[in-house]
Amino acid sequence: MENLVEVILAYKAGLVFLWLLFLFVLERAFPVAPLINSGGWFEKYFPIRVRRNIGLWFCNLILSPLVVIPMTAWAAAHIVGWRPEFLSGSAGLIFDLILLDCLIYWWHRLNHELPFLWRFHEIHHLDMNLDTTSALRFHFGEVLLSAFMRVFVVIIFDITLISIIIFEVILLISTLFHHSNVRLPDQFEKALSLVIITPAIHWIHHHALRNDTDSNYGTVFSFWDKIFRSKSSTQRVRKMQIGVEGAQDKIFAELLKRPFKKRNL
Ligand SMILES: [Zn+2]
Repeated sequence: MENLVEVILAYKAGLVFLWLLFLFVLERAFPVAPLINSGGWFEKYFPIRVRRNIGLWFCNLILSPLVVIPMTAWAAAHIVGWRPEFLSGSAGLIFDLILLDCLIYWWHRLNHELPFLWRFHEIHHLDMNLDTTSALRFHFGEVLLSAFMRVFVVIIFDITLISIIIFEVILLISTLFHHSNVRLPDQFEKALSLVIITPAIHWIHHHALRNDTDSNYGTVFSFWDKIFRSKSSTQRVRKMQIGVEGAQDKIFAELLKRPFKKRNL
């Protein structure tokens, strides 16, 4: 099992980066929402919002080895081991992946329902166009709060490090995919959406209409929103307005400071 952890860790970054690159190219070649054509090719393919998203991602890349990974590893080393035999090995892994996806559904939902958490999560939603780089756009405060939350989840639910790492890879692949602007054949996307979250589902979550923003919370599997009655009936349209109702995106420094500012939410 330890060897498997090492193999996944060694290939994780490369695999995720290749997937990001693949979607980034594909969504510019076959976009659903039209690309904003202001300025030259650089502005078309790397507009300011993409640079902002990558900037926020870099903050989190620095935090990851310093705080997030050590916290998670510490939690995994302190699990109490209450699991019965039948919930270990591959059955345990499948159980963990479904459990973690359910828990992340609720964590995401809390990020919308609790004003304190929304202060940080709002930064992700302020992106006024979507593409695969939107999946990298998270305020470092949200990343730290999630890491803190994960410590409790790992200890309480007795989750092994291998399950966390495999789920993390699936989570990254899934979020890069469902934020992307890739045009998929309708029937293919419809079939996929029966099981997993597709861009057509997740884009509704980024619709600049509060009722839709507070729906479609799923991350990997699409059934949680049906089970917990948070599925929006809105259908994605090509020129749907993206963002937070009544708010505008901010410059990079403003985005970093915004959660700490005193204001009425
Ligand atoms: Zn959200």
